[in-house]
Amino acid sequence: MKAVLIPGDGIGPEISASVESITKAMNLDIEWVKYRAGAEYAKETGEVWEPGLVDAIEEYKWALKGPTATPIGTGFRSVNVALRQKFSTYANVRPLRNFKGIDSKYENIDLVIIRENTEDLYKGIEYMLTEDIANGVKLITREASTRICRYAFEYARTNNRKKVTAIHKANIMKYTDGLFLDCYREVAKDYPEIETQEVIIDNMCMQLVQRPETFDVLVAPNLYGDIVSDLCAGLVGGLGIAPSGNIGDDYRIYEAVHGSAPDIAGKGIANPSSLILAFAMMLEALNKQKEAQSLREALAAVVEEGKFTTPDIGGQATTKEFTDAIIDKL
Ligand code: NAD
Repeated sequence: MKAVLIPGDGIGPEISASVESITKAMNLDIEWVKYRAGAEYAKETGEVWEPGLVDAIEEYKWALKGPTATPIGTGFRSVNVALRQKFSTYANVRPLRNFKGIDSKYENIDLVIIRENTEDLYKGIEYMLTEDIANGVKLITREASTRICRYAFEYARTNNRKKVTAIHKANIMKYTDGLFLDCYREVAKDYPEIETQEVIIDNMCMQLVQRPETFDVLVAPNLYGDIVSDLCAGLVGGLGIAPSGNIGDDYRIYEAVHGSAPDIAGKGIANPSSLILAFAMMLEALNKQKEAQSLREALAAVVEEGKFTTPDIGGQATTKEFTDAIIDKL
């Protein structure tokens, strides 16, 4: 099969090369079709992505994406947000767990964050009311809220998870978050075997820091989901080991959750784990469970041994040495 690979900016091409080597080493029937996108491409061409990218995702349905840089406060639109909206990948799924060998303040974390991906404040409806007043619209719809809550409960049922916690601020935002919560409660009725829980976002942040092991699946509107996702990545030892999938009914775009890491780009020391684990999520969704499992186990073993890991997780190896060690295990 063919799938789209977007290496992206900064360390993106370096970590994408790891996935390409692994694909080859595992003899997987996946041909990567590469397209450029992001700030570096935009600087050269004035366009956000290479012509043909959208058609290719439309045709092949599956994509893997490295980080793309988004300048703050300019007209340049985020490639991530544009792709998520274009392909209606309404669920951002981010599993997070501890890895032996990576320092973290907590043990036994096994969380999955399911974040609504298409609306809320990230819809991008904002304008200057006057020269001194900016206004942004928090758009929440019944359709998108029901769809994401159903996805979360279905995920819990399929993956034998016990609890789905809704994150909200409906005490203050009675209409928008109130609607999200209504949809959550409505959908929950169809899943009586799954425990429900509603937690206000600020309290959620505190509880995640105090007792993260008590949570299972979390479902949230876009903005809270984004913030809590990074908070949870911090709980398990950083963004370098957190993968994510942007899932729609027809298209799936898997990605590394960290950014383009401009401070280490070009040095050959980026940690490729996030993109590799995103690739493992993709393999699982392609019904290649055995391959996904082997890849995760190989990565976990190399991380645990610690001989060939990158500097961000305490090692001294290069991206290539880390990748080769994973391939050796495979
Ligand atoms: P960042 O994630 O790029 O970097 C934060 C810190 O983590 C840096 O010190 C970096 O060196 C380190 N780091 C990140 N990934 C690493 C890896 N794989 N291996 C080793 N170290 C790693 O965040 P930032 O600096 O806030 O953002 C830089 C750019 O990335 C911005 O333009 C931002 O818009 C973009 N960004 C893109 C995405 C995405 O495409 N999904 C996500 C977040 C940020």
